[in-house]
Amino acid sequence: MAVTILIVEDEEKIGRFLELELLHEGYAVIKAADGRTGLEKAQSGKADLVVLDVMLPELNGFEVLRRLRKSSDIPVIMLTARDEVMDKVAGLDGGADDYMTKPFAIEELLARIRLVLKKRGGGAVADKNHLGVGKLRMDVQRYEVTYDGSRVELTHREFELLRVLLENKNIVISRDTLLEKVCGYDYMGETNIIDVYVRYLRSKLDEVYHIKLIQTVRGVGYCIKDESEYGK
Ligand code: CA
Repeated sequence: MAVTILIVEDEEKIGRFLELELLHEGYAVIKAADGRTGLEKAQSGKADLVVLDVMLPELNGFEVLRRLRKSSDIPVIMLTARDEVMDKVAGLDGGADDYMTKPFAIEELLARIRLVLKKRGGGAVADKNHLGVGKLRMDVQRYEVTYDGSRVELTHREFELLRVLLENKNIVISRDTLLEKVCGYDYMGETNIIDVYVRYLRSKLDEVYHIKLIQTVRGVGYCIKDESEYGK
């Protein structure tokens, strides 16, 4: 599920610009154009992070933040005008996670959003290049898999299968979906090929490291579970 960002900004152009950029980055977006609506939407629980302008009609950003903090610790990044140095101090004192001074580079705001979400343990922002569970690590860009630091050699399809399962941790994936993702939708070969690759993966991981990595969900498919005791 996409991380949802609430933009509270009365300047329509800026609001629209932020919305487009955030949508482009894969976030879902909710907008509010005044402080009161912004506060309501921030309290609704539907957003994961708030980008909050200071100068707003009805309630200003600080007042929104002050009221919001009575009931919620949702991450907040404040937007302040260039000269409002005191605003920054007030914003951070008031419980904001970070602030940006207008005008700002969108890349910087995106970077701060990622950082704040990460700090707050909002693991919802998935790092698609570094996957893992327990002591198993996959570096997708370097095409490397390690277990407890030792390299595990996998074939292309074994790697792809493991990648799909790790990307969908805790979700049971059907054989058909795995077949399509690993072998391509036009694959015409043996339909039990996924079971064969799962067996290969088990022989390279489960049997070597005495773990139970890939769970079989009978009649449905396979799943890698992120259990806290896993890998001990
Ligand atoms: Ca404003």
